[in-house]
Amino acid sequence: MKSRRSFVKSLGLLGVGSLFLSSCKKLGLLRPKRFKGKVVVIGGGAAGVYATYLFKQQGIDVTLLEASDTIGGRLGKLLGFADYPIDLGAQWMHGRSSIVGEIVANGNVQVTIDDTEYSYWFQNQMLTSLPKDISIFEGEDLPDVSFAQYATDKGFSSDYQPIVESLAGDYGADANDLSVKMMNLEELNWSSGDGDYKFKETYFDTIISNFGNQIASLVKTQSIVNKIDYTQDQVTVSCANGQVYTADKVLITVPITVLQSADIQFNPILPISKTIAFSKIGMGPGMKVFLKFTSKFFADNIYGGSVCAAYFNDDIGKVTNDFVLIAFVMGDQAASLSALPNDTAIVSALMAELDLMYNGLATSNFVDAFVQDYSKKPFIRGAYSYSKIGIEETSRTTASQSIDNKLFFAGEAMNLNGHHQTVHGAIETGFREFSNIMELS
Ligand SMILES: Cc1cc2nc3c(=O)[nH]c(=O)nc-3n(C[C@H](O)[C@H](O)[C@H](O)COP(=O)(O)OP(=O)(O)OC[C@H]3O[C@@H](n4cnc5c(N)ncnc54)[C@H](O)[C@@H]3O)c2cc1C
Repeated sequence: MKSRRSFVKSLGLLGVGSLFLSSCKKLGLLRPKRFKGKVVVIGGGAAGVYATYLFKQQGIDVTLLEASDTIGGRLGKLLGFADYPIDLGAQWMHGRSSIVGEIVANGNVQVTIDDTEYSYWFQNQMLTSLPKDISIFEGEDLPDVSFAQYATDKGFSSDYQPIVESLAGDYGADANDLSVKMMNLEELNWSSGDGDYKFKETYFDTIISNFGNQIASLVKTQSIVNKIDYTQDQVTVSCANGQVYTADKVLITVPITVLQSADIQFNPILPISKTIAFSKIGMGPGMKVFLKFTSKFFADNIYGGSVCAAYFNDDIGKVTNDFVLIAFVMGDQAASLSALPNDTAIVSALMAELDLMYNGLATSNFVDAFVQDYSKKPFIRGAYSYSKIGIEETSRTTASQSIDNKLFFAGEAMNLNGHHQTVHGAIETGFREFSNIMELS
């Protein structure tokens, strides 16, 4: 996601996030640990890796089970495509008042604010501002209708529809599915501050390389968890490769799409209230397509395409001689591109749109492309969670509640501060459930 803070003014109280701040420092100050048993963490994304690192720091016997070949989840790194390392998944740190802000500050990680100007493809013209301001959410008590419906009700004509889609795309959603009511409430909760920051290196390195290297011996990749039995005192976790693990506590950090499916069989089955809560949380298709060109003929942020509603210059904050534009495709647009027969067809569709915007300059400057389709990643299957129409204010709380003091739930979709959809939101949940298991709070 990018720049949602720019569209919706932050009304959250800076400092609420301090619940999570200085977590590493605080661990030394908190009450002595009570829990001394064995933990299994399922899922090696930001939440799982960070939680495993915290358990290890406290001397807990912990194992991290990751289904795919590598840890990282929705954080990934691509080398060799450009003369700088590319973030395949998350790339912006949203605000600095967060646990990631602390990691960045304490680790002297170099970041640059991305305050580049926006351009809008509107009525077949590239504009630097829209005829009518579309920042329509601030502090309002909104009905539970879709963002698309709300924009129509507010008098935005169909010409604005691609712009509305681009804003919904920041939330990883299609405008027809996104609950404008919850989106507003969640924005009011946001406490991470303003500004989107780019990493000189990568977000992947800051989180996954940094903490992942410290837990490497505890990670079992290619471990697809397919059964969790919590009928006994100890929980039994079974994997598709035949491996079986037992633990006193199991921390589940898989994406909400996986929890909504039958990929993991629970014995006994999860409470119905929990599965209903899972079903209320949305997670739609999403992809990033990296397009490399011989020159920078494009604007830094282009909103309003009908093939892809948002294109972003990837070079901000990087030391590079390359020119890479990202097509950030979400919702129905991502579903349409994902259904095309191959990556070449996806790139052609995007190039046709850019050629229309820039008079053929996309084709004449084209060098290379790389498609990262998260919808097709078998253990992710989408972009990030959003609040669908009909979601209740308590849905994420119910979804994230522990069961029998044995099963615990983390991951971006389980964030209760309005920081879901983000890396720092995922990490906050890893810290929260680590604290719950350690009985620190
Ligand atoms: C295209 C895109 C761009 C984004 N941009 C940003 C951004 O700029 N800034 C930002 O803050 N956030 C961004 N996000 C969101 C951010 O990447 C996520 O919120 C965050 O990385 C999620 O971390 P997680 O640990 O909750 O889940 P994940 O990273 O999805 O990790 C879950 C892990 O569980 C594993 N798993 C699944 N099923 C099983 C199983 N059965 N057994 C074992 N393991 C399993 C998966 O393989 C995965 O590794 C973006 C996301 C996408 C897709």
